[in-house]
Amino acid sequence: MPHAGCPNQCSFCNQKSISGQLEKITAQDVKKAAETAIKSSYSENGEIAFFGGSFTAIDREYMTQLLKAAGPYIEQKYFSGIRISTRPDAIDEEICKILKENFVTSVELGCQSMNDEVLKANQRGHTSQDVVRATEMLKKFGFEVGHQMMTGLYKSSVEKDIETAKRIISLKPDTVRIYPTIVLENTKLCELYNSGEYKVMSDEETVDLCAELLLMFFENDIKVIRTGLHSGGNVEEGYVAGFYHPAFKELCESRIYFNKIIKEIDNSKIQKGKILVGVAPYAVSATVGQKRFNAEQLKKQGYEMKVVALNDVGRYEVKVEEQK
Ligand code: SF4
Repeated sequence: MPHAGCPNQCSFCNQKSISGQLEKITAQDVKKAAETAIKSSYSENGEIAFFGGSFTAIDREYMTQLLKAAGPYIEQKYFSGIRISTRPDAIDEEICKILKENFVTSVELGCQSMNDEVLKANQRGHTSQDVVRATEMLKKFGFEVGHQMMTGLYKSSVEKDIETAKRIISLKPDTVRIYPTIVLENTKLCELYNSGEYKVMSDEETVDLCAELLLMFFENDIKVIRTGLHSGGNVEEGYVAGFYHPAFKELCESRIYFNKIIKEIDNSKIQKGKILVGVAPYAVSATVGQKRFNAEQLKKQGYEMKVVALNDVGRYEVKVEEQK
């Protein structure tokens, strides 16, 4: 839904670059996409999703046309529901009723930051209070609520991003997406970056911060359904600066395991030498790290790590012992 009807121009946004879609989609396109999905990768838990622009801020008639095109596929149980993304200030009672009547089940809000100065500096055109109000209203109507946040925005900081995560946690959304800020061509952020007014967060700092956020949401039972932008969709073409990696979540999870190992070593006062690290079976490769990054970092600190899969260990949990 590139920019369709969006009156805003957020500092970081060039929807054409992000969605990779230049044409305005039609009801016919929705039907075609649904039919293709049914034929190629059918799953009864699948959803029809309208992402990219601000779905509830577009022309009401156009929005309803798209919903009506998707509705019959939900009624016939080909998909479990409709998921949309929108701005927090584009949610009111009337919109909620329309969404409810048209099989929308999940609404994701682009919160980006819960710091009003950061929101203003990035020309978001809404406040953190709009996020609170929209979240409460969506919950009252029984929608699954998702929050999207961005790290490293203009005028933000590690502390402010952590504070944003804390405020999001206090609102108890069902899901969260974490997007490190990417500078794209033809955006206000790009001008600020070129003039030296805006500096991007370093790669290391971005991974450290997002690893911490992932863990915070996990510990508060909030499901993180995306970390980092999707590849494809022309992001690479419009890319100017900022940390973008196709396997970003894995890098963050790898950092979580590394930090946990170091903490265990310190707590248990483990001597340098060979160590045995036990993690859940699905976490073995993240623990070793991409291109053995964690193993090499530990080696530099005097520890030779061997990772073993343990069935009684939970996500982001590690057991470390000296290998005799
Ligand atoms: S509200 Fe959404 S679509 Fe509109 S400019 Fe901002 S990020 Fe882009």
